[in-house]
Amino acid sequence: MDYRPGKDFAQEMDAGDPLREYRSRFLVPKHQNGDECIYFCGNSLGLQPKTASRYVEEILKDWETLAVEGHFRASRPWMAYHERLGEQTARLLGAKPLEVTVMNTLTVNLHLMLVSFYRPTPHRYKILMEANAFPSDRYAVKSQLRFHGYDPADALIELPLRRGEVLHRSEDIEALLEAEGGTIALVMLGGVNYYTGQVFDMERITRAAHARGCTVGFDLAHAVGNVEMKLHDWKVDFAVWCTYKYLNGGPGSTAGAFVHEKYAHTLNLPRFAGWWGHEKATRFLMPADFLPIPGAEGWQVSNQPILPLAPLRASLDIFEEAGMEKLRRKSRLLTGYLEFLVERIGEERVSIITPRDENQRGCQLSLVMKRDGQAVFKKLGERGVIGDWREPDVIRVAPAPLYNSFAEVFRFAELLEELV
Ligand SMILES: *Cc1c(COP(=O)(O)O)cnc(C)c1O
Repeated sequence: MDYRPGKDFAQEMDAGDPLREYRSRFLVPKHQNGDECIYFCGNSLGLQPKTASRYVEEILKDWETLAVEGHFRASRPWMAYHERLGEQTARLLGAKPLEVTVMNTLTVNLHLMLVSFYRPTPHRYKILMEANAFPSDRYAVKSQLRFHGYDPADALIELPLRRGEVLHRSEDIEALLEAEGGTIALVMLGGVNYYTGQVFDMERITRAAHARGCTVGFDLAHAVGNVEMKLHDWKVDFAVWCTYKYLNGGPGSTAGAFVHEKYAHTLNLPRFAGWWGHEKATRFLMPADFLPIPGAEGWQVSNQPILPLAPLRASLDIFEEAGMEKLRRKSRLLTGYLEFLVERIGEERVSIITPRDENQRGCQLSLVMKRDGQAVFKKLGERGVIGDWREPDVIRVAPAPLYNSFAEVFRFAELLEELV
């Protein structure tokens, strides 16, 4: 795309944007002066779909009028409320409905998956993670290692970065797996790194890891609703994600898990069980022995909290309507335009650590402030820009194709140039 620096370019792009109407489906926070904020923080908490409150109200109303009978007789019966959400999410992930469920929260799901898929043996017991993994993932993995009697200092391998580089290279990951794969039980990476915005080549890494006999899991917190995936075809063993970032499920909303079809009928796989993972036909006969539902639902533990599923339902309906392919097409343009404008400000003032290759990134750009970063971030906030600050010098901004516009990207770049 040949981007142009003038404001008219942004106006032309917005006018020709087939997804431009979707912004009006969301509630955009307002700045003190009454204008809508430039909200580039969908990678942290997505905006509220306008239909969310109606969906929540519907559940409250059913609870009021039907009480316990709502499980079966609610306008959307609570017993099956999560099932459609699993199917919709599966489409976003390139997965089969059988392979996906929504449940719990992200880190909880990571623990549940590690119970089943981190199966160390005396010779193969290590876990490979990225160097700058999200803290919660590190804590979870380290605690699991200790739980199995290993010392993270020995059993946790962090993918090294080349000197002076912040991005991982697929060929280095392959080389590491080639050299040390025989001792690695599990490769556990973020699909998209939260700090740099780098998208890992999940297909290539999974292939290399499987060739060395390792199990592969991805944390898709920053990938779902952001980039296109084919988890089933890539033969990823398991994945987890939260739904409050690009999926707009609302603060702390219900998360999800993917378990590849190849395990769907391995009913004796070790797992931490609960009654909601038990076969639906016999669940209420209250049998003494656990018989898992085939597929990802077999990892459910408790009955579903229905209320937080309502906003997620509202958002997934919108995703379904807009289509991930169209969203991704707009996202490439939107983020590419942001990159173009930021580069014009000059590397001596702002640089970008996110990959330049649009296939290796999603919505987010991580901007390194060369001077007074925190002050710049604060002033951007005072002018109505919502992004986020990461120590020591990074501002993360993520224009989301569902509700952000080219005009907002233009305005943001204008403000940034003025402030740095
Ligand atoms: C957002 C995020 C989390 C958050 O975990 P919760 O269990 O939802 O609090 C964990 N890991 C990654 C990679 C994230 O981006």
